[in-house]
Amino acid sequence: MEKEADAQLFDVHAHHPEKTAAGAAHAFVASGFSAESNEEVLSYARAHGCFFSLGLGPQEIQRVEKYPDLQSGISEMERQAETAKKDAQLSRLFVAIGEVGLDKHWGKTVEERERQFLAFERMISLAGRLDLPLVIHSRDAEKECIQQLLGASQLRTAGGRPPLRVLMHCFGGKLEEAKRCADAGWLVSIPPQANSERKKIIKALPLSALVVESDAPYIGKMSADAMGAAEMIARYKEMKTEDVLRAASDNARKFFALPHLGKKL
Ligand SMILES: [Zn+2]
Repeated sequence: MEKEADAQLFDVHAHHPEKTAAGAAHAFVASGFSAESNEEVLSYARAHGCFFSLGLGPQEIQRVEKYPDLQSGISEMERQAETAKKDAQLSRLFVAIGEVGLDKHWGKTVEERERQFLAFERMISLAGRLDLPLVIHSRDAEKECIQQLLGASQLRTAGGRPPLRVLMHCFGGKLEEAKRCADAGWLVSIPPQANSERKKIIKALPLSALVVESDAPYIGKMSADAMGAAEMIARYKEMKTEDVLRAASDNARKFFALPHLGKKL
């Protein structure tokens, strides 16, 4: 019984897969957040066939010493994504643009926030161009992120294209903000870390709006620690963990447009 539930775990967000997900028996998305970590994720995906996303986190692109030329820093990431999308082996594993977003915790100055904002705009249009969903990093900037995304999704809808698909990774905002995301049809991702606001969010949101992640090695140590998030949801929603795992896994597979619903990879 436990084995069956185990097989359903879908960790929507882990970093440095050779350390956090080596030999994992469950599905996971290896996530990039910088030029180097994108390369790391690409070579792991090429060798091991895991799902991956490519991104440029706000906490990265704000750093002038690392990206002295903002435009070429963004363009390099776009090239990485466009090349992966054209690669026959990688394109079927390339499931999202992310993490990307806004971070007012690390971005304190006007310049840093401006760089984050410009990069985020480019990442939103890249996702539209490549027809991939967005995985959002938002820290102390949920309101601004939601606003920027809603603006972009209205533009796309008005143009007759489908609305953006959005997953709020490691959501740390308020209940009201989580509700706005769920109302927009977005997913709210739960890491294995309890706090009182997260408890309220888990209780209030429908299971159809929730997915689980490890954010390893930063929150969970290993990708498999996403199980702790599923157990927490089960506890707060008074459900069986295996039912949470099944629903969260189906939500993730639909979101990432993976054809084999419900099946282990
Ligand atoms: Zn992350």
